[in-house]
Amino acid sequence: MKIYNSLTGQKEEFKPLVPGHVGMYVCGPTVYSNVHLGNVRTFISFDVIYRYLKFSGYKVRYVRNITDAGHLEEDSEEDKISKKARLERLEPMEIVQQYTIDFHKVLELVNNLPPDIEPTATGHIIEQIETTKTILEKGYAYESNGSVYFDVVKYNSEIDKYGKLSGRNIEELIANTRELEGQDEKRNPQDFALWKKAKPQHIMRWPSPWGEGFPGWHLECTVMSTKYLGEQFDIHGGGMDLKFPHHECEIAQGKTANGVDPVRYWMHANMLTLNGKKMSKSTGNHLLPREIFSGKNQLLSKAYSPAVVRFFMMQAHYRNVLDLSEEALQAAEKGYKRLVEGIKTLENLPVTDKDSFDVKALINSFYEAMDDDFNTPVLIAGLFEAVRHINLVRDGKETITSESKEKLSKAMNDFAFEVLGLHKMQQEAGNNQAFDKAIQLLIEIRNQARAEKNWALADKIRDELARFGIQLKDGKDGTTYSFS
Ligand code: AMP
Ligand code: ZN
Repeated sequence: MKIYNSLTGQKEEFKPLVPGHVGMYVCGPTVYSNVHLGNVRTFISFDVIYRYLKFSGYKVRYVRNITDAGHLEEDSEEDKISKKARLERLEPMEIVQQYTIDFHKVLELVNNLPPDIEPTATGHIIEQIETTKTILEKGYAYESNGSVYFDVVKYNSEIDKYGKLSGRNIEELIANTRELEGQDEKRNPQDFALWKKAKPQHIMRWPSPWGEGFPGWHLECTVMSTKYLGEQFDIHGGGMDLKFPHHECEIAQGKTANGVDPVRYWMHANMLTLNGKKMSKSTGNHLLPREIFSGKNQLLSKAYSPAVVRFFMMQAHYRNVLDLSEEALQAAEKGYKRLVEGIKTLENLPVTDKDSFDVKALINSFYEAMDDDFNTPVLIAGLFEAVRHINLVRDGKETITSESKEKLSKAMNDFAFEVLGLHKMQQEAGNNQAFDKAIQLLIEIRNQARAEKNWALADKIRDELARFGIQLKDGKDGTTYSFS
């Protein structure tokens, strides 16, 4: 298995630290708003990586955190969650709860597996204080006015090159950094906070040896990854935009505190764009998952199911930029349907005593694609090549043996549903009458709920069905349902 390591800029043979086991950490969301589809792309990318590692026989411990403290607003000294809580007059933990639930719901809709451990920054304040102390004791941090900063220049000259992951050099960084509020506390503008003093209006605060404050964002990932995976672990992932400064700082903290490079393979997922620009909360250039699943957005003429959205994401390699458009979603809808129908057709295919095409090579191509840095578009091309043969056999133009049919069926099911994590529902439900009656019953209950203005129940029925890949459509002749 080969993995592209952002640290070396090369595809490398994957060799886990402990044979047969993989430790993987992925930066989780900052839960101060609803996740947008760009965030979702990154989490789906790593979900497929997690799935394929497990499928390949590794015992994986996948840790993905929840950032519920410490992530500052750009150009300001205020914690994103604390600020939202202040503006909405809510407890910070109410904000955290609301958006953590939303995050989990969305990821479940797109069929992501939950991580094995999901630690929160606020649950690890003590560990963050301890690591800050360690770095202070080693002489690579300093206290200034109740905050503690990491000394980037000293680290760069004595321990390791700061900027080695993102390919920057410290002189340039220093020259190009603007002076921001609070910078006068630092020896150097590039220094970053391990611990930040809380101003009077700051709601989220904890006691520490340096007074009341809160931990820095970069530190939480260092502390939580090494706590659960060890001082050095196999894979660390996140979106491309986290390479600098977030991951660069994680390397510096880990190497200083523990004396080893924390991560062996750095993996970065590329961005989802909308109208050619990065999808982002702050610029407003974004789509929410629910807007796509319901079709309620002016960019879309109709709804697209979570199954289609997932298939759309799988059609691009995780290291390439992917642009969202209605045409691309329409194409994905067709592609997903073709694949699922192909797999269904395979089950009923007639067999003979001879294969007219190389089934073994076809199946091998699935493994080769994924072993080559998780190349999902190449895998999908292979699956479609299989569908092409399946249709030819169906039409009597090719032949397959019963043994090959069984093998191909297992491989296609494994790769489509277990590895890519595509939704299975459409295939299973088929033309099952009992199933149809059950859905009709739910539609009836939903209509009744709507008549009684019980929107919570009505929405619950629609959303939960969407989760299984069943879309309700309200038309003038009543409500119908369709898959994907
Ligand atoms: P945040 O909640 O802002 O910390 O972001 C959570 C994750 O989403 C991070 O790994 C980001 O790199 C990632 N992310 C943010 N915007 C995009 C985007 N447009 N496309 C893909 N990933 C993104
Ligand atoms: Zn992180």
